[in-house]
Amino acid sequence: MTLNFSAGPAALPKVALARAREDLVDFEGTGRSVIEQSHRGPAYERVQAQAIALLRELLAVPQGHEILLLGGSARGQFAMLAMNLLAPGASADYVVTGTWARAAYDEAVLVGRARIAADTREADGSYRRVPEPAELAPDGVLDRAAAYVHLCSNNTIYGTQWAAFPDTGGVPVIADMTSDLLSRAIDVSRFGMIYAAAQKNLGPAGVVAVILQKELIARARRDIPTVWRYATHAQHASLYYTPATFAVATMRHVLEHARAIGGVAAIEATNREKARRLYGALDARPELYRVPARPGSRSLMNVPFYLPTAEDDARFLAEATRRGMIGLAGHRSMGGVRASIYNWVSLDDVDALVDLIAGFGR
Ligand code: PMP
Repeated sequence: MTLNFSAGPAALPKVALARAREDLVDFEGTGRSVIEQSHRGPAYERVQAQAIALLRELLAVPQGHEILLLGGSARGQFAMLAMNLLAPGASADYVVTGTWARAAYDEAVLVGRARIAADTREADGSYRRVPEPAELAPDGVLDRAAAYVHLCSNNTIYGTQWAAFPDTGGVPVIADMTSDLLSRAIDVSRFGMIYAAAQKNLGPAGVVAVILQKELIARARRDIPTVWRYATHAQHASLYYTPATFAVATMRHVLEHARAIGGVAAIEATNREKARRLYGALDARPELYRVPARPGSRSLMNVPFYLPTAEDDARFLAEATRRGMIGLAGHRSMGGVRASIYNWVSLDDVDALVDLIAGFGR
């Protein structure tokens, strides 16, 4: 038995994987694999439409927002959103809370004018928190005339997450939710755009979900290549280019499972309980474990922590491996340990890790 705490591509529901295996061999009785079907055939079109409908239902996406399934993953969106939404003469605000948020900014400045409105980097170069919404008051730190404000809702590497989102005074908020979409209830109507590469909570890598206001699509630049325009993909129901058909089909099974177990409310309740148990076990032994994320910013998805020395970290990781737990090594830039407890990591798996944390070195 493998207990998968990987930061992504991450664990997926076993039932979804079993259905994906059926799809791969004989897709819905067609005698062909799902990866041998035309993406323009009715069988696949239905699958993709269902995946999009499930996202709309699970996330309560308002009708004024379009849902696109694109390729190119989250980094692709760093560039694509700026190409579409950062018109000449306009400026965009970026809130930098970690490596990914910074990478999004770095792409934007290649396309147009962007500003780092806030950066929570600490003197030692690390990131331990996200801003309090009040720190980002419109007219104070944020530019009321900005084309959009970009933030990263969950900082996968540092284990920090926005518990509440700022009031931007009407400036559209664009959020990279790659590592927490579908993990908790969000009010989609408050965002101009949300995007998430699928490989954490939604399904396999290769597809990125983009949820954006139709009004933003209408206002987006038209003088960029056709393939990079959101309008193109909206017009073609995300079938303009050949989608990652197997990834989308598998994502549909993950979303069906999400609905079957009670939707986002049920998923969030379990995620909160998993995080409560894990942080509880770490906090119970402060002489052994240090959690760098500040209390108000702690992530429900990624939990990095350190033992007193790098040798202790290595011993902990070796013991975890012996117990069948994988994917626990910290990000290469961070070292230490990082437990990613996305949606499909079970409470039982977290309990096994909690046991190790509680008993280690005793
Ligand atoms: N944003 C966040 C928050 C991430 O965690 C990651 C990947 N771990 C990315 C962006 C980059 O995703 P991709 O590799 O799909 O481009």
